[in-house]
Amino acid sequence: MHVNFIDLKKQYAQIKEDVDEELRQVCESCKFVLGPKVEAFEQAFAAYTGSKFCIGLNSGTSADQVALKAVIEPGDEVITTANTFIATTEAITAAGGKPVFVDIEETSYNIDPQKIEAAITNKTRAIMPIHLFGQPADMDRILELARDNNLYVIEDAAQAHGAAYKGRYFKSEELVSLNAPQWRKCGCLGDAAAFSFYPGKNLGAYGEAGAITTNNPAIDKFVRMYRDHGSSEKYIHEFEGHNMRMAAFQGAVLNVKLKHLDQWTNMRRKNANYYNQLLSAVDGVIAPQEMSYAKHVYHLYVVRVNQREQLQNFLKDQNVFTGFHYKYPLHLQKAYQYLGYKKGDLPVTEKVMQEIISLPMYPELEHSEIEFVVEMIKKFIKTR
Ligand SMILES: *Cc1c(COP(=O)(O)O)cnc(C)c1O
Repeated sequence: MHVNFIDLKKQYAQIKEDVDEELRQVCESCKFVLGPKVEAFEQAFAAYTGSKFCIGLNSGTSADQVALKAVIEPGDEVITTANTFIATTEAITAAGGKPVFVDIEETSYNIDPQKIEAAITNKTRAIMPIHLFGQPADMDRILELARDNNLYVIEDAAQAHGAAYKGRYFKSEELVSLNAPQWRKCGCLGDAAAFSFYPGKNLGAYGEAGAITTNNPAIDKFVRMYRDHGSSEKYIHEFEGHNMRMAAFQGAVLNVKLKHLDQWTNMRRKNANYYNQLLSAVDGVIAPQEMSYAKHVYHLYVVRVNQREQLQNFLKDQNVFTGFHYKYPLHLQKAYQYLGYKKGDLPVTEKVMQEIISLPMYPELEHSEIEFVVEMIKKFIKTR
């Protein structure tokens, strides 16, 4: 048995005809940047997330950065977590902001809303929750804090395509309560959301791509201009922007794949449930917990164990491939030394991040493969 961490070839085999045809059409049209394929995807993805607007960009990192740039001023503080990919905090800095780290919940691994208030200063302008591993952060409480303190909320939804949250709807400064319990997708929960379509993400392009979704027309307008050198029309520049436009090939691929996303999400959820079921009988492994307010899309299936490095090596010898997401918390990295954090500042983050290991997870993963992975984990634990 050989269990890959992720397998994009199996997925391509399923959609090859449609993808090849779409890519051929882009070649025929010679419209390689933005154009009708990207516009079609923007409309489809806005509708999918329940947002008014979607702006196609060249990466998730760009999306994080421009979403923040739309709402913060240089020197503003942005509250986020340290157990994320560095793209989140690079984006804060690139937008002129300063990252401020808050600890996580041990249950969801997302930002702990109870600990946000203590981190708010008169320089705080935004909160950037990450829907980590595909599970929405506890948005109601984050949005209430934002409303009470006049802050923006920018979702980092790079891992959360199709994930949903049960609750209310936040529209810029006002909090609108939709009393009916209703699942709302990540992407429409804050002032704006940043998505990545990196190939390995739940909705992945065939190259670099990202997008911002928002209900706010001012943010939509700013991002549309920013991605194209601050231009309102050709050679008319309202401000200095950047080149962050989505390539037409990526829009074309994403259009094909979006139609399959819900099915692939269901397959991921079934796989996660099967892992949970098998692991519930294994002492020494903490399986992920789906919160009552969340529909988790399992971008990553992350468990906690003792001796994760040894487990990784053991599994590798059995041809089972795993990952660490992420290996070290950002507040203790050299890149963020200047922020002045030290060991012990974020105790839950630090503890959890020493124990996590990401097991193979993708829609086409087979039950026999999951059984093999769990058998090998059991074997490892027995030998300890
Ligand atoms: C992937 C990812 C990003 C960056 O997206 P890219 O498309 O790789 O630039 C940002 N934040 C998180 C949480 C991610 O997982």
